Amino acid sequence: MGIIAVHGGLDTSREKQYLEILQEAALKGHELLLKSRVQALEAVLQVLEESPKFNCGYGSVLNFDGIAEMDAAIMDGPSNRFAAVAAIQDVRHPISVARALMEKTSNVILAGAGAVKFARAQGFPIVDCIADRQHESWQKARASLARGEKPAQNLYTGLVSASYGDTVGCVLWDGAGLAAASSTGGCLLKTPGRVGDTPNLGGGIFASKTSAVVCTGIGEAFIETLTAKYVDQVIAAGNEPNQAAGLALVRLYEQKRAEGGILAVDAQGNVGSAFNAGRFPVVVVADGRLIDNYQPVNLRGEQGIH
Ligand code: ASP
Repeated sequence: MGIIAVHGGLDTSREKQYLEILQEAALKGHELLLKSRVQALEAVLQVLEESPKFNCGYGSVLNFDGIAEMDAAIMDGPSNRFAAVAAIQDVRHPISVARALMEKTSNVILAGAGAVKFARAQGFPIVDCIADRQHESWQKARASLARGEKPAQNLYTGLVSASYGDTVGCVLWDGAGLAAASSTGGCLLKTPGRVGDTPNLGGGIFASKTSAVVCTGIGEAFIETLTAKYVDQVIAAGNEPNQAAGLALVRLYEQKRAEGGILAVDAQGNVGSAFNAGRFPVVVVADGRLIDNYQPVNLRGEQGIH
């Protein structure tokens, strides 16, 4: 019983090694699904935050100053509880800090030094999250800027090669309720202190009795259009998640000319996902079984999207 769907971010490689980690994460979450939605989400994201392949935890892209500042959020639909950490540094699992915030305090968002202080008080050790290849990528990007050139690196993934990964997110339905979680290092060379859509409720994440939604792409565009909340409203109006994700991307493109990926599940356990960029790997586990070769809808080139 139940559905769990995990995405590996915009422009993320669909090579076997990336899909396998997403699958491992989804299956791990599925084992915990009937025990606790929040625990299941944390388990999924921890697998991805541990890997240097994805732009979250260890593997995060670096900000302008060469520091990994991470955002993570978690929301449980039935209890309407939300918690997020923003611009947090030196913790391996920002999602676990967000979960602790949700379960142990009445605060909803902690940012920067305060988030780090809370993490230490909760016993999360100091862990450097800078993977070698992200550090090299940052050095190259800064050198390009110093030469007056535009960096060749991918904004989302930090890397130039075809093999890379971005922000991660997960939505689930356990037969009784919906929940969502997301984790990211944000965008390469972001301004120190910049916070993206991942911890912005209604922008990059939302969960209710109707749907669970997570987004990836340029965070500012998702925040200003309240895209995750819009997807929930479109599903509440009677649309399937696939349709809602597509309509939200068309709207995002119309309003902001932005790229994105959206993953959603509704209260009947229907999963939907769409994107308008190069790649957007999604894996789905339904009733304990991995769905073979699940493909999100690619809207690039359609409905006026370039
Ligand atoms: N949405 C993330 C941010 O803007 C980045 C991404 O999804 O690639 O921080």
